[in-house]
Amino acid sequence: MINEHTQQLINKGEMLPLMEEFYTIQGEGFHTGKAAYFIRIGGCDVGCHWCDVKESWDANLHPPTKTTEIVTNINKQANTVVVTGGEPLIWNMDYLTNLLKKQDLKTHVETSGSYKLSGNWDWICLSPKKTKLPLPAIYSKADELKIIVLNKHDFKFAEEQAAQVNTNCELFLQPEWSKREEMMPLIVSYVMENPKWKISLQTHKYLNIP
Ligand code: SF4
Repeated sequence: MINEHTQQLINKGEMLPLMEEFYTIQGEGFHTGKAAYFIRIGGCDVGCHWCDVKESWDANLHPPTKTTEIVTNINKQANTVVVTGGEPLIWNMDYLTNLLKKQDLKTHVETSGSYKLSGNWDWICLSPKKTKLPLPAIYSKADELKIIVLNKHDFKFAEEQAAQVNTNCELFLQPEWSKREEMMPLIVSYVMENPKWKISLQTHKYLNIP
C-alpha cells in the first residue's frame, strides 16, 4: 500500500515504479545498433496479447524508486537513455528527463502514446496499438513511428497512423516476433512498393542481448 507522501512524490515524478535498468544496445527502430542505457518503468494497460514484457503491466509489482537513484545508477559510458516500459507516459516524466538533461544525456522514449505526453525528449518513438490508440497531440511530435505487424491488416493500420505524423517522422514496420517468418516476406514486398517505410527488426533478440 502506497502512503500519501510516496503518492505525492510519484505524482511529481520524483519516484517511479522502476522495473529494471540496464546498459545494452538499442535493438530496434531508427537508433538500432547504438549503445543506450534503458530504464524500464512498470505499469501498462494497453493489453497487447503478444507483449513480451507482461511482467511490467502491474505497476504494484515494481516498487516506487527515487528518480535520483535511478539516474545515479546510469552507466558512466552511456550518452543516451531510453525510457521504456510498460507505458512510461502513465507517469510524470518531467523530473526524470530534466535530471537526465542536466547530465547531458540524450533522452529517448518508447511509447504507445495512449497517455498525455510529459518529459523533455530528444527522440520520441511512437508505437501505436489498436487496443488503446494514441492521444492526438503526440502524433506531430513523434520522431519515429513504429508499427508492429502481426497480420496483413496491419498495413492498413500503419498507413492510417502514418497519415497523422509529421512529414519528417521516420516510418518503420516491425514484424511481431512470433510471426516474423510469416510476415517478413509481406513486409519486404510492402516496403519495396512503399519506400517511405523501412524495416525494423528486433536485432537484440537475434544477438541474444537484453
Ligand atoms: Fe506490452 Fe508495450 Fe503493448 Fe504495453 S504497449 S502491452 S508494454 S507491448
